[in-house]
Amino acid sequence: MPPLHPLLKRQLKRLGLEVECDAPDAERWRELVRRVSRAYEEHDQERYLLERSQDLASQEMAALYATVRADRDLLDSRVRERTEALALSEGRLSSLLSLSADWIWEQDAELRFSYFSDGIEAATGIAPTWLIGKQRMSSDAFDAPAEAIVAYEACVDGRKAFRDFTYGFTRPDGVRRFIRISGEPVFDDSGSFRGYRGVGRDVTQSTVAEQKVHELARFDSLTGLPNRNMFLGELDRTIARARRHATAFAVFFIDLDRFKNINDTLGHDAGDELLKTMAARLRGAVRESDLVARLGGDEFVVLLEGEADAADLSTIAHKLLAAIGEPITIQGCSFLVTGSIGIGLYPGDGEDAAELLKHADAAMYLAKDRGKNNVQFYTSDLAELAARQFEVESALRFALTRGELLLHFQPKIDIASGRMLGVEALVRWNHPTRGLVPPGDFIPLAEERGLIVPIGRWVIQAACRQIRDWRDAGFSPPPVAVNLSARQFANDRLIGDLGDAFSRYDVAPGQLEVELTESVLMSDPERAKQVLEQLHAMGVKISIDDFGTGYSSLSYLKRFPAQAVKIDRSFISGLPSDGDDTAITHAVIAMAHSLGLNVVAEGVETAAQLALLHKLGCDEAQGFLLGRPMPAADLAARLTMAPRPAVHAT
Ligand code: C2E
Ligand code: MG
Ligand code: MG
Repeated sequence: MPPLHPLLKRQLKRLGLEVECDAPDAERWRELVRRVSRAYEEHDQERYLLERSQDLASQEMAALYATVRADRDLLDSRVRERTEALALSEGRLSSLLSLSADWIWEQDAELRFSYFSDGIEAATGIAPTWLIGKQRMSSDAFDAPAEAIVAYEACVDGRKAFRDFTYGFTRPDGVRRFIRISGEPVFDDSGSFRGYRGVGRDVTQSTVAEQKVHELARFDSLTGLPNRNMFLGELDRTIARARRHATAFAVFFIDLDRFKNINDTLGHDAGDELLKTMAARLRGAVRESDLVARLGGDEFVVLLEGEADAADLSTIAHKLLAAIGEPITIQGCSFLVTGSIGIGLYPGDGEDAAELLKHADAAMYLAKDRGKNNVQFYTSDLAELAARQFEVESALRFALTRGELLLHFQPKIDIASGRMLGVEALVRWNHPTRGLVPPGDFIPLAEERGLIVPIGRWVIQAACRQIRDWRDAGFSPPPVAVNLSARQFANDRLIGDLGDAFSRYDVAPGQLEVELTESVLMSDPERAKQVLEQLHAMGVKISIDDFGTGYSSLSYLKRFPAQAVKIDRSFISGLPSDGDDTAITHAVIAMAHSLGLNVVAEGVETAAQLALLHKLGCDEAQGFLLGRPMPAADLAARLTMAPRPAVHAT
């Protein structure tokens, strides 16, 4: 018999039933059967309960599952929607990006490029693969203004956003591009820095255009040399450096002599060509490291750093003069041009740029005064001169109102008959302490400081008043000539001023003559022609003064309605011994006559000069021999004298 279930065994034992017992008690057996049956029932019940609870659990699970599924479906559809929206916006973004020149970039926490949108290649020709993994700053082809780099680096170091940082860089194929980027830092949830992302744009075109503009603002477009702006900036920097290191340097102020003449006579194209050639010569005559700039017109400057020895500077300056003085061929003609150089030294001759330049300029003027083609260092004498000029200028301003100006008159004599055909009015300044100051000592200054126009106006009025006074006193004065300076001639009020003087003193325009030098006419020939034609139409006589010292072309002067030329006294002084002067004087007289012009010889001091002039056919003479410039009363006395043939005046 198989072993019994221990529970059954126990029941049997409790009921006193032995399995092996062969005479079982019926009652106990029934009891056993009952208990077994109850045990089954209980088991059934338990199983039912278990099954029921299982049932319930699985129903709950199903419900739960259904919710989860619904949630998941919802999520799925949302994800799908979002993905589509994202794709749409990405599409929008990329189509926008493809339309613009912009691209998107990303950098990792080590600032290495980790991503570029396609745009970069299209815009710059740089393949993203070439950049991925590189740090921008590691590229030595990178360039930007130092301040911009500092500002950009400060942003990046501080993990801050930056905008519009522009830098230049050279593509692998050597082509230069300019790129402008803006970016912002990226942080993860825990706040740690993950890198940067931002946008980039190729700004090569606009940057190159900007640079061009900048260059134009710094360089002279004619000669390619640095211009005044750039020079002044460089001078400031050089002064700062010299101050820091206690070093010295020199500024050369260079002016071409008589450039204006060439420019006026040959035209602006020729003038430009001359300036270009001179610029190249100056550039070539000094070290690469020396700055050569054009300040404007025919003014150049050279800045020599680390040079202070006067002998060395003088050698360099003479080298520059030699370079300027090489013959130059323009429009097929060969010319010799000279220059004048003024030298200012830092720190001795000026502590700041303006002072240093002013002093170098003053030295240059002195060099010009001393005969051109010259070098002059700034000295304290110049400072004295400047101070004196200032004094003269202030005093001159009062001279007019205080009535310190007066006119002297010098006769112009008809050589053949000895008759006085005209007088020249020459201004004098009766200075309270200096006595009679000749015009050479104040007219150039008045011209420079803009005082010449009121002075000239006074001369015109005074000359007309004198004509009236002589007439009122019973004399019949010859025409009176006044000298017109450049600024006065350029002044719009000239014709009006003359008209006023004529009517105020009841003087006929034919009683007045104007003397103008060639250079006054040549500085603006078109305007000069107009003004002279107006004067001519009024009846005013016109003489060309100091003929031979400027352009000296009578056929050119023919374009202007002049009646006379005055041969400069520098030629007359050579007569009769100097063969050249004689030949020139002869030629001028002959040519002037062929053009219908009267000829006046200036500065006739000797009878021999007068005799030769007479022989050469000169019409009139003016000079100490025939009468010095004299006060009005003295001239009036001369008007009463009977004329004597001038040639026998001695
Ligand atoms: P300029 O018009 O050529 O005047 C002639 C100058 O030569 C005068 O000098 C006169 O004194 C001088 N002179 C005359 N004869 C002789 C001579 O035989 N020998 C020498 N060595 N010199 C002689 P000044 O009066 O000193 O005038 C000098 C210049 O000043 C004038 O030259 C003229 O350019 C200018 N000037 C004079 N008055 C005026 C004026 O009212 N207005 C303007 N704008 N300039 C004036
Ligand atoms: Mg004159
Ligand atoms: Mg003269």
